[in-house]
Amino acid sequence: MKITIKTRIWLLGLVSLTGILLALVTHYHVSSEVLAENAEMVDRLEQTDRFSRLVHELQRERGLSNAFLAQRVESVHAELRAQRLATDHRVANLDAGQRGVLAGLAGMTTMRERVSRAELETAATFDFYTETLSSIVAEVTRLAKAPGAHPMRSDLFAHAGLIHAKEYLGQVRAGLATAPAAGRIDPAWVAAMGRLVGLFESHLDLFLRDANPALKEAMLAALREPEMVTARRLIAGAMAGRTIEQIGVPRRDWYAAITAGVDLLREMERYSLIELQAEAARRQTETRYRVLLQRGALLLVAVLLAYLAVSSLLTLMRALEAALAGTRRLTGRGGRDETARPGARRDEAGEITQSFNQLLDMVDQLSVKASTDALTGALNRHGFAEIAAGEMHRAQRYHRSLSLIVLDLDRFKAINDRHGHAVGDRVLREISRLVRDNLRAADVFCRWGGEEFVILTPEIPAEDACRLADKLALRIREHRADGLPHFTASFGVATYEPGDDTESLFAKADHALYEAKSSGRDRVVVYRPGGPATTSAAVNPRSRIALVSDRNAR
Ligand code: GH3
Ligand code: MG
Ligand code: MG
Repeated sequence: MKITIKTRIWLLGLVSLTGILLALVTHYHVSSEVLAENAEMVDRLEQTDRFSRLVHELQRERGLSNAFLAQRVESVHAELRAQRLATDHRVANLDAGQRGVLAGLAGMTTMRERVSRAELETAATFDFYTETLSSIVAEVTRLAKAPGAHPMRSDLFAHAGLIHAKEYLGQVRAGLATAPAAGRIDPAWVAAMGRLVGLFESHLDLFLRDANPALKEAMLAALREPEMVTARRLIAGAMAGRTIEQIGVPRRDWYAAITAGVDLLREMERYSLIELQAEAARRQTETRYRVLLQRGALLLVAVLLAYLAVSSLLTLMRALEAALAGTRRLTGRGGRDETARPGARRDEAGEITQSFNQLLDMVDQLSVKASTDALTGALNRHGFAEIAAGEMHRAQRYHRSLSLIVLDLDRFKAINDRHGHAVGDRVLREISRLVRDNLRAADVFCRWGGEEFVILTPEIPAEDACRLADKLALRIREHRADGLPHFTASFGVATYEPGDDTESLFAKADHALYEAKSSGRDRVVVYRPGGPATTSAAVNPRSRIALVSDRNAR
């Protein structure tokens, strides 16, 4: 099947568009992944938010349960009931998936009833809540550790550390209730507390390691707050068995003092989450805009590229078609199938090649026509000038001999007058043929105008040029042709000398020709610079060669 260039150009456009579409689809997939990762991060932050709200309420409920079990006062029970509602509200806010993974929620109702009936030990209640809380906190960590390469992963991880730290501080607060009296140290208690304090501190460190600079800065500021400083000093003091005076906080205020620290962490937690959610939302919006912009730019570049490629090629094609049509008009070969010869291409490329070849042939023919004399077939002045310039240059540069012969028919006007112009023309053709038959291939023969001719003879010595002119004069003189009158010609010969150009050489030969005419016609006169005025030098009895000098020229 023959595929035209135009079809190929359109195919090129189609292929490049397809390529771009593929790139777009790839970009769509890649960017969709990024968008999905962002969306997932937003979702993880939301789940973390719900978990951390629940943690907060459960921690309060744990404290109030313990307070009620210790005091068994109705006012505290009322407070506890209100807190249970708040906790339930947060549980209801979890989605089914979140609720499913949490241990302890199922046993909550029974446990609460037993607390209300004061059937449970403080420690057992505490353990129940603490276990439930640690399963939630573990879930938060799992969320943070979920696979993915999102840049906010480490922020989320830091946040999980913060929730852990707050929970361990809460456990430390509960542990302080069972602290030995001042001045006494219970190694088992110190060991249990040491574990909790260690966990609290290490999770704080984790937060400081993973959080972004702004959150880290905020946390360092929070740790310098008086509430936090007091809470930590109090814990250290109690574990070292210091007196209440040394610690500076009365024992009944210990719970409140640590609670102030917990609240500070709770505030940090809120702040961190708000920051992270805002950051995630900002990232999502930014990514959406960037993706949109990239897709737009890609599409624009694609269309532009395809348009440029196709349009420029089509323009080129149209120009070629126009050139082709012009060539056909010029050569008149429109209808003929010139591509039929073997090996020729039969498509547009073949046609173009064919047309250009025809044009080149025409240029050749035209240039031959432009430099040839129509009547005699000799070079005209224009053709002669081009060749003569080259020969002059060679003679000058390589010191080669070069002579110029000018010949003029004698009394040609009379021939015309007597026999008619047509016969005159035949005489001109006849003399051209005669001269040409006696020249070498290297000689340059030109009709200078009217009945005057010029011969340039490269590479032969001056004497040979002179002999050639003499031979030509003889041939013409002795020539007889049917239906043509007898005719003779006069010759002027000049040889190139350094400093000569075509004009000066011609002028010298023309001067010699003038001498030939004025000294009787049908003879050869050689121009010789500085030579004798006029010397007859018969080379053979039938020769008529004379010399003419510079002095005679003026
Ligand atoms: P001279 O010996 O002094 O050269 O005499 P002449 O008659 O040859 O010289 P003149 O210059 O007086 O005449 C040249 C004639 O050549 C005049 C012109 O009509 C004729 N002639 C020029 N070109 C052509 C041509 O193409 N065909 C014909 N038939 N005659 C031409
Ligand atoms: Mg003449
Ligand atoms: Mg003449």
